[in-house]
Amino acid sequence: MSNYLPIQPLIHCEPCKDCGARPVVEQIKDQFIVRCPDNKKHYKTKAGLFDIADWNLKNKVQTSLGSPVVTQKAS
Ligand SMILES: [Zn+2]
Repeated sequence: MSNYLPIQPLIHCEPCKDCGARPVVEQIKDQFIVRCPDNKKHYKTKAGLFDIADWNLKNKVQTSLGSPVVTQKAS
């Protein structure tokens, strides 16, 4: 059984780098995984603490690949 928890809107989190979805937190017993809600194969953090920092790091758009277009919606 798994349990998905939404991440509070005030917490900054990068969208999934593969599909752009806002991540959710999956709770398994007393452990947390930050993951893509749409696809199990997309990046997820290791089970343990609520590690949004790791998610953000891994899903940050890499600018070193020469992609000049980074659109950030001001909200
Ligand atoms: Zn995804």
